[in-house]
Amino acid sequence: MKRQMMDILVCPECKGQLVITVISEAQGDIITGSLSCGTCEIDFPIANSVPNFMNASDKRN
Ligand SMILES: [Zn+2]
Repeated sequence: MKRQMMDILVCPECKGQLVITVISEAQGDIITGSLSCGTCEIDFPIANSVPNFMNASDKRN
């Protein structure tokens, strides 16, 4: 996903702001990483440049 996507992406749970962690990036594209919501304490993985909101890891457990 492009870094600029961060401007429009919000947490699907609370509509709050997400914090990005980049593991690998190429030409402004985030290939691997995660998007975190501090409010919900949920991480959403980014794999193959696609953020996956269906496969969240819930840090509350
Ligand atoms: Zn949230």
